Amino acid sequence: MINFSLPDAPCLAPLRKLAAERIIILDGAMGTQVQTFGLTEDDFQGDGSYDLKSNHPQQGNNDLLSLTQPGVIEEIHYRFAKAGADIMETNTFSSTTIAQADYGLEHAVYDLNVAGAQVARRAAERAEAEDGRKRYVAGAVGPTNRTASISPDVNDPGYRAVSFNDLRVAYGEQIKGLIDGGSDLILIETIFDTLNAKAAIFASFEAFAEAGVRLPVMISGTITDASGRTLSGQTPTAFWHSVMHARPFSVGLNCALGAAAMRPHIAELAGVSSSLICAYPNAGLPNAFGQYDETPEQTAAQVGEFAREGLVNVVGGCCGTTPEHIAAIADAVASFAPREISA
Ligand SMILES: [Zn+2]
Repeated sequence: MINFSLPDAPCLAPLRKLAAERIIILDGAMGTQVQTFGLTEDDFQGDGSYDLKSNHPQQGNNDLLSLTQPGVIEEIHYRFAKAGADIMETNTFSSTTIAQADYGLEHAVYDLNVAGAQVARRAAERAEAEDGRKRYVAGAVGPTNRTASISPDVNDPGYRAVSFNDLRVAYGEQIKGLIDGGSDLILIETIFDTLNAKAAIFASFEAFAEAGVRLPVMISGTITDASGRTLSGQTPTAFWHSVMHARPFSVGLNCALGAAAMRPHIAELAGVSSSLICAYPNAGLPNAFGQYDETPEQTAAQVGEFAREGLVNVVGGCCGTTPEHIAAIADAVASFAPREISA
């Protein structure tokens, strides 16, 4: 099923070397930066050079901007690269047929993923040409808005809004686009349902077999409540055991309740995992308006603690984190050695 005899992508060796030398920096939130541009419905629709073939309103469909406002998305990636990010996440969190159904853009997912990878690649190369530091592009795969493990209907606990195979097919289309667009890695993130993640892992390896190359895979769960379990009910240790068969480049946590609440769960993962550990929290808890209030210094101080304790190999930011947060995080972890892995 998973073919480990495929050749590894050329980025794996330099990434492993980098990980041995220092803590790797991931970028921050796309959505917060998009908001600063104040884009209108017309902006989201674009100038018509990409034919949407959809009558749905598109404002809020941030992934579409890779096609209709590529200059905006490239600028955001570039700002994160210049802030110190080694790895840029593509603007493709919701670029599956399942998530794009809300916008009538199921037919556009391949284009969204190719464009998402290409625009991140352009920003990476621009930053690299200026300062000589290699940047990598991680094709971002979100959880979709449906869960394969839990019924959305309280009166019918056996019901599922999506099957493993639906997810496998949808993720497969997305990941093919991400590979064709030039992604270096695949990042399966914000996992609240491990069965969804397993479908994404399976689809990744099918896509790698088709492409004839195995990209490094980063796997990142999210803790959705204070008891420290994912929505599908797993502890961090159980989560690791569910995904270790994929031999991920990194495993970790993102989003969730901010860095302070994430710390014990990252420590638990760091204690059991033979992969690199990756943590990219939100800028604290959302306030009553759904905004994130932690300053770059506040978030960076907490992520710096993860590094001081030797828990992490890759760090960055999720919701509410800006290029200033990423610069502060990069600065806060710079003097600490990366977590050592025995395997
Ligand atoms: Zn988040």
